[in-house]
Amino acid sequence: MLKGKTALVTGSTSGIGLGIAKALAQQGANIVLNGFGDSEGPKAEIAALGVKVAYHGADMSQPTDIEAMMRYAADQFGRVDILVNNAGIQHVARIENFPVERWDAIIAINMSSAFHATRLALPAMQTANWGRIINLASVHGLVGSAEKSAYVTAKHGVIGLTKVTALENATSGVTCNAICPGWVLTPLVQKQVDAKAAAGNISIEEATKQLLIEKEPSVQFTTPEELGALAVFFCSPAANNVRGVAWNMDGGWTAQ
Ligand code: NAD
Repeated sequence: MLKGKTALVTGSTSGIGLGIAKALAQQGANIVLNGFGDSEGPKAEIAALGVKVAYHGADMSQPTDIEAMMRYAADQFGRVDILVNNAGIQHVARIENFPVERWDAIIAINMSSAFHATRLALPAMQTANWGRIINLASVHGLVGSAEKSAYVTAKHGVIGLTKVTALENATSGVTCNAICPGWVLTPLVQKQVDAKAAAGNISIEEATKQLLIEKEPSVQFTTPEELGALAVFFCSPAANNVRGVAWNMDGGWTAQ
Protein backbone atom coordinates (compact mmCIF):
# COMPACT_ATOMS: atom_id res chain seq x y z
CA MET A 1 0.00 0.00 0.00
CA LEU A 2 2.84 2.45 0.73
CA LYS A 3 5.33 1.33 -1.94
CA GLY A 4 7.31 4.30 -3.23
CA LYS A 5 6.45 6.47 -0.22
CA THR A 6 9.01 7.61 2.35
CA ALA A 7 8.30 7.67 6.08
CA LEU A 8 10.45 9.50 8.59
CA VAL A 9 9.87 8.30 12.16
CA THR A 10 11.56 10.28 14.92
CA GLY A 11 12.78 8.36 17.97
CA SER A 12 12.62 5.07 16.06
CA THR A 13 15.68 3.24 17.41
CA SER A 14 13.47 1.79 20.15
CA GLY A 15 9.95 1.09 21.42
CA ILE A 16 6.88 2.52 19.72
CA GLY A 17 8.81 4.40 17.00
CA LEU A 18 10.56 1.23 15.87
CA GLY A 19 7.24 -0.66 15.93
CA ILE A 20 5.61 1.99 13.73
CA ALA A 21 8.61 2.11 11.38
CA LYS A 22 8.37 -1.67 10.94
CA ALA A 23 4.60 -1.55 10.29
CA LEU A 24 5.07 1.16 7.61
CA ALA A 25 7.99 -0.79 6.07
CA GLN A 26 5.78 -3.90 5.93
CA GLN A 27 3.48 -1.83 3.70
CA GLY A 28 6.43 -1.01 1.41
CA ALA A 29 7.44 2.47 2.63
CA ASN A 30 11.12 3.42 2.65
CA ILE A 31 12.14 4.50 6.14
CA VAL A 32 14.29 7.22 7.68
CA LEU A 33 15.12 6.24 11.24
CA ASN A 34 16.16 8.65 13.99
CA GLY A 35 17.04 8.33 17.67
CA PHE A 36 19.84 7.63 20.09
CA GLY A 37 21.62 4.36 20.93
CA ASP A 38 22.20 1.49 18.52
CA SER A 39 21.00 2.29 15.00
CA GLU A 40 22.57 -0.67 13.18
CA GLY A 41 20.18 -3.25 14.71
CA PRO A 42 17.01 -1.28 13.84
CA LYS A 43 18.40 -0.52 10.35
CA ALA A 44 18.96 -4.24 9.73
CA GLU A 45 15.44 -5.08 10.99
CA ILE A 46 13.90 -2.60 8.54
CA ALA A 47 16.14 -3.61 5.61
CA ALA A 48 15.07 -7.24 6.16
CA LEU A 49 11.54 -6.14 5.23
CA GLY A 50 12.77 -5.36 1.69
CA VAL A 51 12.64 -1.55 1.74
CA LYS A 52 15.33 1.14 1.69
CA VAL A 53 16.39 2.48 5.06
CA ALA A 54 18.45 5.48 6.15
CA TYR A 55 19.32 6.88 9.57
CA HIS A 56 19.94 10.38 10.90
CA GLY A 57 21.01 10.96 14.51
CA ALA A 58 19.45 14.42 14.96
CA ASP A 59 18.94 15.48 18.56
CA MET A 60 15.26 16.39 18.47
CA SER A 61 15.77 19.10 21.10
CA GLN A 62 17.81 21.08 18.54
CA PRO A 63 15.98 22.87 15.70
CA THR A 64 19.19 23.05 13.61
CA ASP A 65 19.60 19.25 13.91
CA ILE A 66 15.98 18.77 12.82
CA GLU A 67 16.60 21.00 9.78
CA ALA A 68 19.67 18.91 8.87
CA MET A 69 17.65 15.67 9.26
CA MET A 70 14.85 16.90 6.99
CA ARG A 71 17.42 17.97 4.34
CA TYR A 72 19.09 14.55 4.65
CA ALA A 73 15.77 12.72 4.18
CA ALA A 74 14.98 14.77 1.06
CA ASP A 75 18.49 14.09 -0.31
CA GLN A 76 18.11 10.34 0.28
CA PHE A 77 14.56 9.77 -0.97
CA GLY A 78 13.33 12.94 -2.72
CA ARG A 79 10.82 13.92 -0.05
CA VAL A 80 9.10 12.80 3.14
CA ASP A 81 5.52 11.61 2.51
CA ILE A 82 4.80 10.36 6.01
CA LEU A 83 6.12 12.07 9.12
CA VAL A 84 5.72 10.35 12.48
CA ASN A 85 6.59 12.67 15.36
CA ASN A 86 7.37 10.12 18.03
CA ALA A 87 10.58 10.98 19.92
CA GLY A 88 9.87 11.49 23.58
CA ILE A 89 11.26 11.35 27.10
CA GLN A 90 9.75 11.34 30.58
CA HIS A 91 10.63 12.69 33.99
CA VAL A 92 8.54 12.16 37.12
CA ALA A 93 8.57 14.70 39.99
CA ARG A 94 6.20 17.10 41.74
CA ILE A 95 6.10 20.61 40.24
CA GLU A 96 7.90 22.24 43.17
CA ASN A 97 10.77 19.77 42.75
CA PHE A 98 10.74 19.50 38.94
CA PRO A 99 14.24 20.23 37.56
CA VAL A 100 14.01 23.22 35.19
CA GLU A 101 16.43 21.55 32.79
CA ARG A 102 14.13 18.43 32.57
CA TRP A 103 11.10 20.69 31.94
CA ASP A 104 12.91 22.45 29.08
CA ALA A 105 14.11 19.14 27.59
CA ILE A 106 10.64 17.53 27.69
CA ILE A 107 8.96 20.57 26.11
CA ALA A 108 11.64 20.68 23.39
CA ILE A 109 11.75 16.94 22.57
CA ASN A 110 8.10 15.94 23.17
CA MET A 111 6.41 19.07 21.76
CA SER A 112 8.52 21.68 19.93
CA SER A 113 10.28 19.02 17.81
CA ALA A 114 6.89 18.10 16.31
CA PHE A 115 6.36 21.74 15.30
CA HIS A 116 9.82 21.96 13.69
CA ALA A 117 9.58 18.67 11.77
CA THR A 118 6.01 19.50 10.68
CA ARG A 119 6.84 23.01 9.41
CA LEU A 120 9.75 21.56 7.40
CA ALA A 121 7.80 18.57 6.01
CA LEU A 122 4.62 20.40 4.98
CA PRO A 123 5.76 22.30 1.84
CA ALA A 124 6.71 19.12 -0.09
CA MET A 125 3.53 17.36 1.07
CA GLN A 126 1.43 20.33 -0.05
CA THR A 127 3.14 20.37 -3.47
CA ALA A 128 2.45 16.63 -3.87
CA ASN A 129 -1.08 17.07 -2.48
CA TRP A 130 -0.53 13.96 -0.35
CA GLY A 131 0.95 13.62 3.09
CA ARG A 132 0.42 12.04 6.45
CA ILE A 133 1.57 13.53 9.74
CA ILE A 134 1.08 11.29 12.75
CA ASN A 135 1.87 12.68 16.18
CA LEU A 136 2.54 10.31 19.07
CA ALA A 137 0.71 12.07 21.84
CA SER A 138 -0.51 10.01 24.81
CA VAL A 139 -3.49 9.56 27.12
CA HIS A 140 -1.58 12.34 28.87
CA GLY A 141 -2.62 14.61 26.01
CA LEU A 142 -6.20 14.06 27.19
CA VAL A 143 -5.97 13.69 30.97
CA GLY A 144 -3.39 14.48 33.64
CA SER A 145 -1.44 12.41 36.14
CA ALA A 146 0.35 13.76 39.20
CA GLU A 147 4.13 14.26 38.94
CA LYS A 148 4.11 14.46 35.12
CA SER A 149 3.66 18.22 34.61
CA ALA A 150 6.06 18.68 31.70
CA TYR A 151 4.96 15.51 29.91
CA VAL A 152 1.23 16.25 30.31
CA THR A 153 1.76 19.87 29.18
CA ALA A 154 3.78 18.78 26.13
CA LYS A 155 1.28 16.07 25.11
CA HIS A 156 -1.73 18.42 25.44
CA GLY A 157 0.27 20.81 23.23
CA VAL A 158 0.90 18.09 20.65
CA ILE A 159 -2.85 17.45 20.37
CA GLY A 160 -3.39 21.20 19.83
CA LEU A 161 -0.71 21.22 17.13
CA THR A 162 -2.37 18.16 15.53
CA LYS A 163 -5.71 19.97 15.26
CA VAL A 164 -4.22 23.15 13.78
CA THR A 165 -2.07 21.20 11.28
CA ALA A 166 -5.17 19.25 10.21
CA LEU A 167 -7.26 22.41 9.83
CA GLU A 168 -4.66 24.38 7.87
CA ASN A 169 -4.51 21.52 5.32
CA ALA A 170 -8.14 20.38 5.49
CA THR A 171 -8.95 20.94 1.80
CA SER A 172 -5.85 19.03 0.64
CA GLY A 173 -4.56 15.47 0.61
CA VAL A 174 -2.43 16.19 3.67
CA THR A 175 -3.85 14.87 6.96
CA CYS A 176 -2.62 15.10 10.53
CA ASN A 177 -3.78 12.94 13.42
CA ALA A 178 -2.58 11.98 16.88
CA ILE A 179 -2.25 8.59 18.55
CA CYS A 180 -2.80 8.46 22.31
CA PRO A 181 -1.46 5.27 23.86
CA GLY A 182 -1.98 4.23 27.45
CA TRP A 183 0.78 2.05 28.92
CA VAL A 184 3.13 0.43 26.39
CA LEU A 185 5.97 -1.68 27.82
CA THR A 186 8.99 0.14 26.34
CA PRO A 187 12.24 1.36 27.97
CA LEU A 188 10.41 4.65 28.79
CA VAL A 189 7.85 2.79 30.92
CA GLN A 190 10.21 0.11 32.22
CA LYS A 191 12.06 2.90 34.09
CA GLN A 192 8.78 3.84 35.83
CA VAL A 193 8.09 0.19 36.72
CA ASP A 194 11.60 -0.16 38.16
CA ALA A 195 11.16 3.04 40.22
CA LYS A 196 7.81 1.78 41.57
CA ALA A 197 9.35 -1.56 42.53
CA ALA A 198 12.24 0.16 44.31
CA ALA A 199 10.00 2.69 46.11
CA GLY A 200 7.54 0.02 47.34
CA ASN A 201 10.20 -2.66 47.90
CA ILE A 202 8.13 -5.01 45.72
CA SER A 203 8.97 -7.28 42.78
CA ILE A 204 9.06 -6.00 39.18
CA GLU A 205 6.11 -8.30 38.46
CA GLU A 206 4.02 -6.82 41.29
CA ALA A 207 5.02 -3.25 40.32
CA THR A 208 3.97 -3.92 36.71
CA LYS A 209 0.59 -5.23 37.87
CA GLN A 210 0.01 -2.24 40.17
CA LEU A 211 0.97 0.23 37.43
CA LEU A 212 -1.59 -1.28 35.05
CA ILE A 213 -4.43 -1.74 37.56
CA GLU A 214 -4.15 1.88 38.74
CA LYS A 215 -5.03 3.28 35.28
CA GLU A 216 -6.10 0.66 32.74
CA PRO A 217 -9.34 -1.33 33.12
CA SER A 218 -8.02 -3.87 30.58
CA VAL A 219 -4.98 -4.55 32.84
CA GLN A 220 -2.86 -5.08 29.74
CA PHE A 221 -0.27 -3.17 27.77
CA THR A 222 -0.89 -1.80 24.28
CA THR A 223 1.86 -3.06 21.94
CA PRO A 224 4.05 -1.22 19.41
CA GLU A 225 2.60 -3.59 16.76
CA GLU A 226 -0.98 -2.45 17.55
CA LEU A 227 0.11 1.19 17.38
CA GLY A 228 1.87 0.44 14.08
CA ALA A 229 -1.38 -0.94 12.67
CA LEU A 230 -3.20 2.28 13.64
CA ALA A 231 -0.47 4.34 11.92
CA VAL A 232 -0.92 2.20 8.78
CA PHE A 233 -4.67 2.90 8.92
CA PHE A 234 -4.02 6.67 9.08
CA CYS A 235 -1.91 6.27 5.90
CA SER A 236 -4.59 4.26 4.07
CA PRO A 237 -7.18 5.65 1.63
CA ALA A 238 -9.89 4.81 4.20
CA ALA A 239 -8.41 7.59 6.38
CA ASN A 240 -8.39 10.26 3.64
CA ASN A 241 -10.91 12.32 5.58
CA VAL A 242 -9.79 11.54 9.12
CA ARG A 243 -8.44 14.92 10.21
CA GLY A 244 -7.30 16.19 13.58
CA VAL A 245 -8.36 13.26 15.72
CA ALA A 246 -6.70 12.21 18.95
CA TRP A 247 -7.25 8.44 18.90
CA ASN A 248 -6.61 6.65 22.14
CA MET A 249 -5.45 3.03 22.39
CA ASP A 250 -5.45 2.88 26.15
CA GLY A 251 -7.29 -0.17 27.49
CA GLY A 252 -10.15 2.05 28.67
CA TRP A 253 -7.98 4.51 30.67
CA THR A 254 -9.78 7.65 29.45
CA ALA A 255 -13.24 6.02 29.24
CA GLN A 256 -13.54 6.05 33.04
P1 NAD B 1 11.44 4.76 24.16
O1 NAD B 1 12.25 5.32 25.26
O2 NAD B 1 11.41 3.30 23.92
O3 NAD B 1 11.84 5.45 22.77
C1 NAD B 1 12.06 6.82 22.67
C2 NAD B 1 12.82 7.09 21.40
O4 NAD B 1 13.08 8.49 21.32
C3 NAD B 1 14.18 6.38 21.34
O5 NAD B 1 14.45 5.99 20.01
C4 NAD B 1 15.14 7.48 21.78
O6 NAD B 1 16.47 7.28 21.31
C5 NAD B 1 14.49 8.67 21.13
N1 NAD B 1 14.91 9.94 21.71
C6 NAD B 1 14.89 10.36 23.00
N2 NAD B 1 15.39 11.59 23.09
C7 NAD B 1 15.71 11.98 21.83
C8 NAD B 1 16.27 13.16 21.28
N3 NAD B 1 16.61 14.21 22.03
N4 NAD B 1 16.48 13.20 19.94
C9 NAD B 1 16.18 12.14 19.15
N5 NAD B 1 15.64 11.00 19.63
C10 NAD B 1 15.42 10.93 20.96
O7 NAD B 1 9.98 5.36 24.42
P2 NAD B 1 8.55 4.95 23.83
O8 NAD B 1 7.75 4.46 24.98
O9 NAD B 1 8.66 4.12 22.62
O10 NAD B 1 7.98 6.39 23.47
C11 NAD B 1 7.76 6.84 22.15
C12 NAD B 1 6.70 7.92 22.16
O11 NAD B 1 5.45 7.38 22.61
C13 NAD B 1 7.02 9.09 23.10
O12 NAD B 1 6.63 10.30 22.49
C14 NAD B 1 6.18 8.78 24.31
O13 NAD B 1 5.86 9.94 25.03
C15 NAD B 1 4.95 8.16 23.65
N6 NAD B 1 4.15 7.37 24.55
C16 NAD B 1 4.67 6.26 25.18
C17 NAD B 1 3.85 5.53 26.02
C18 NAD B 1 4.35 4.30 26.73
O14 NAD B 1 3.62 3.77 27.57
N7 NAD B 1 5.52 3.80 26.44
C19 NAD B 1 2.52 5.92 26.24
C20 NAD B 1 2.03 7.03 25.59
C21 NAD B 1 2.85 7.74 24.75
